[in-house]
Amino acid sequence: MNLPLSYSLIPVPRPLCITLTLLMALLIFSLDYFTHFDMAMATLYVIVVAMAANFASRLGLIAIIFGCLGLAWLGFMLGSGNPLHFVISLVAIIATGLLVGRSRNAFRELERQASLLELTHDAIFVRGLDDKIQYWNSGAEELYGFGRQQAQGRVSHELLNTGAEQSVAPITSELMRTGRWKGELVQQRADGAWLTVSSRWALLRDSRGRPLAILESNNDITERKKAEASLKEQERSKRVALATIPALVWISRSDMSLDYVNAHWQAQGFGESAKTLGWCQLLHPDDTAQWDAKWQLAWQSQKQGLEVEARLRLNDGSYRWFLHRALPIYGDDGEVARWYGTSIDIQERKSAQEALIKAQAELAHTSRVLSLGELAASIAHEVNQPITTVVTHGEALQLWLRRPELATEEIKAGVAAMVAEGRRAGEIIRRLRDMARNSQAQHGPLQCAALAEEVLAMVRHELERKKVRLSLEASSSLPQIAGDRVQLQQVLLNLILNAIQAMAQVPEEARHLRLDISESGQSLTFSVTDSGMGIPPGQHQQLFNAFYTTREEGMGMGLSICRSIIEAHDGQIWAETPASGGARFSFTLPVAAETALVADHAPL
Ligand code: ADP
Repeated sequence: MNLPLSYSLIPVPRPLCITLTLLMALLIFSLDYFTHFDMAMATLYVIVVAMAANFASRLGLIAIIFGCLGLAWLGFMLGSGNPLHFVISLVAIIATGLLVGRSRNAFRELERQASLLELTHDAIFVRGLDDKIQYWNSGAEELYGFGRQQAQGRVSHELLNTGAEQSVAPITSELMRTGRWKGELVQQRADGAWLTVSSRWALLRDSRGRPLAILESNNDITERKKAEASLKEQERSKRVALATIPALVWISRSDMSLDYVNAHWQAQGFGESAKTLGWCQLLHPDDTAQWDAKWQLAWQSQKQGLEVEARLRLNDGSYRWFLHRALPIYGDDGEVARWYGTSIDIQERKSAQEALIKAQAELAHTSRVLSLGELAASIAHEVNQPITTVVTHGEALQLWLRRPELATEEIKAGVAAMVAEGRRAGEIIRRLRDMARNSQAQHGPLQCAALAEEVLAMVRHELERKKVRLSLEASSSLPQIAGDRVQLQQVLLNLILNAIQAMAQVPEEARHLRLDISESGQSLTFSVTDSGMGIPPGQHQQLFNAFYTTREEGMGMGLSICRSIIEAHDGQIWAETPASGGARFSFTLPVAAETALVADHAPL
């Protein structure tokens, strides 16, 4: 077995030890036999016994003791020496043998205990107060890559290039004071690699309490430290990322209170109190209903996240639009534990959107007024008709009033007719005013037949003037649609005026305009078909682009505005060429939600 603690001071190979011991025994015998000093020369055999202790087994040592005793007796007998000297020598050899035997036993016990240290995987070494390594276990060999022979006798911190977070002085003073120290050290392996070790030091003392040596036990924690460092770095970069993302990042509890907000909230102008305020106080009062609905929906669906546009109140009291997106994280109980979300500032987009809607509305208004301009003659005729009738009835009344007998019934009928015609004129003017006014879009339930009727009333005279035959196909019972009456009338008006213009070059008898309104599924389809010049092949899509026109005095905005209006009503508009020739423009509009079928009997 490889001795962990060396019993001899100088490690010498066993055969050489035996040879030297035998030579020593021979030398002492020679001195005893050949010299005649007045002293107990045979006492020198204690040297042989001490030397044998280095290599001999227990029995071997007993044999050597007896051998020495035998040689002493032989020397005494042959040299007829002093009996007292002989006895002293015997006593000395036996006493030395006993002492060596005892110390050998003690050493064996130590050796046994030391061998336990070999079983551990920890790197353990013992160094003297001069820091020179006295013991180096196999765990240390494995960890540092230095063999026992390389390490023993070397100054430990020089061998391992030891460095500690704190300086050496306080470590040493703690060790001397308490007998222990533990901490982390950085050390270098034989191959140059650096290790971080968790180190425990214990001070070994002698029986009188004086420091003897230091036992150092080290564990490699390099990988753990690396993992910790990488975890820390990941945490740090996550924190930096969260703080620097140019969006409001937040974590919300299930009760809608805020658990975390990133630094961007403050930069955005929410002040420090945003987190404590929570959604209830941050949201614009007009947006809370929508927010609650979407929040509940996302909560119940379990799959879909939250996505909602809502305004938030800044520290200065102003509101800005944000797009909020969040995903729920569920706890072990299956309930939503947290919402992780971001809120992106969409104020600019919203403002641009609002400006666009306003511009579109203004453009649509201008276009409407222009259309009315085109209908000026027709409108004048429409207004003129009831006025003429009123005048005619008035003249008739004058005649009846001049008669000696009052024709009460005729007068009553005449007055009723005047009132009715006056109302008709008033109604025409109201519709014109609505069309000419630049009012806010309103989304109300509308009856399609009434809607079409009002438009046809405006263009009826124009159709007559241009000799266009009108036919209409509509179911008597159509559901209501939701939308803005004036805007939708503008679409119909535009399509009818375009159709009239497209038929200008067609012989009068072939001019035919047809309006269809039909229901299919959850939508209504309006179609305006004419027998005009038709649409050139491949141009059906382009017609709806702004500024596309083939008319000399045209602006090319009419159909583009029609498309914006229809799409804003969640519908679609398209152009096609019917088999019979000419052109057909159709658009769909969704049926108003929860609209009962209402009789749509108004005359068209
Ligand atoms: P504008 O009437 O000012 O030209 P519109 O956007 O209303 O603008 O129409 C764009 C173009 O679409 C017209 O110039 C015309 O070429 C074509 N168009 C529109 N309606 C019809 C139709 N019923 N038949 C054939 N072409 C049409």
